[in-house]
Amino acid sequence: MTPIESLTIPDAPTIARWRDDFPILRTRVHGKPLVYLDNGATTQKPTAVIEAERDYYMHANANVHRGVHWLSQRATRDYEGARARIASFLNAAQPEEIVFVRGTTEAINLVAQSDVRGRIKPGDEILISAMEHHSNIVPWQLVCEQTGAQLRVVPIDDSGTLDFEAYERMINARTRIVAVTHVSNALGTINPVERLIDIAHAHDVPVLLDGAQAVAHVPVDVRALDCDFYAFSGHKIYGPTGIGVLYAKANRLKAMPPWQGGGDMIRSVTFERTEYNDIPWKFEAGTPNIAGAIGLAVALDYVRAIGIEVIGRHEAQLLADATEAMRAVPRVRLIGTAQDKAAIVSFVHEDVHAHDVGTILDHCGVAVRAGHHCAMPVMQRFGVPATVRASFALYNTREDIDALVAAMRKVQEVFGR
Ligand code: PLP
Repeated sequence: MTPIESLTIPDAPTIARWRDDFPILRTRVHGKPLVYLDNGATTQKPTAVIEAERDYYMHANANVHRGVHWLSQRATRDYEGARARIASFLNAAQPEEIVFVRGTTEAINLVAQSDVRGRIKPGDEILISAMEHHSNIVPWQLVCEQTGAQLRVVPIDDSGTLDFEAYERMINARTRIVAVTHVSNALGTINPVERLIDIAHAHDVPVLLDGAQAVAHVPVDVRALDCDFYAFSGHKIYGPTGIGVLYAKANRLKAMPPWQGGGDMIRSVTFERTEYNDIPWKFEAGTPNIAGAIGLAVALDYVRAIGIEVIGRHEAQLLADATEAMRAVPRVRLIGTAQDKAAIVSFVHEDVHAHDVGTILDHCGVAVRAGHHCAMPVMQRFGVPATVRASFALYNTREDIDALVAAMRKVQEVFGR
């Protein structure tokens, strides 16, 4: 890998320009400028995305795929155009490989119920990792309950790195799917997904990647990765809430039965028999989130215009600075110190509960997440009830890190330690 020092890191005026694109960043909380470090939970939205949704409702709102009238055709064109732009962002082979869903959670449930449930038997295995979000645990537990299959969990080490040798040992002839996160939301670990996929495919096992924390921070090329499924949420990549994507290889989607029935997913219906629509519409029952899909495509255009590599370099610098700064704060311990990390700094204060830390930081204007981050097994693995998590995005600055550190001094003051 090229060291980040040798590549251009976006300068302060560039970041200031990016920040201008996000009106919410001008908000003051408790009389202080907002320092938004909760991007792992959701990212803020640039004006272009907000305007795209507004524009849709102002000028193009109609239902899709079912109107002969001009407005419906325009809405359909915009909605399907959004799908094509998203396919291109991920380098999918065709737009039909993009299924619109509500978010990562729904995408994973779709795969669990439609693809895996029908082809898994008692004694078969589903392989996940110990750093998964609940969204990539519970859907598989449901399938196990429904079918008698077994959930197996690849361990992680004390730095939050996946135990690759254990993975190689645990995948076997009974494994029916590998479902792992690309980037851990609780630890920041970037998993070696190419190698994980190679090994899974050598065993003829399909791989689902949970890309919720990855897609806004690292380049994702689904064809280069050769993953079978890739799931992400629009709201974590500067897009709207309530819209997300399941990428799946076309031949897999074609082989999968629908998982929800209703309008739009059919070609013809009689009381005796229903003929289903083609992919991807077979998986999009009911009126979709049209404005959300259009907003998401605009968000991806926005990221593409800046360049995901450029964003990645900026965030790598923020991660390096924040890690160093937080290591210097007394009584703070970092949770998640893998070598390959996205810009997520999870930590505990040895004397102060994460929720109290979060509350004091909030009073200083610093928004972080405090809790289990929907990854309770990760908390159990590290023997802590909760962590404080600062998670960065393209609009964060060195000053945001300084504000975080200053607010941590306030924590020391308030708790007298
Ligand atoms: N997977 C990971 C790694 C996440 O971080 C999240 C959200 O925090 C999800 C899945 C679930 O995403 P959503 O709630 O948008 O469905």
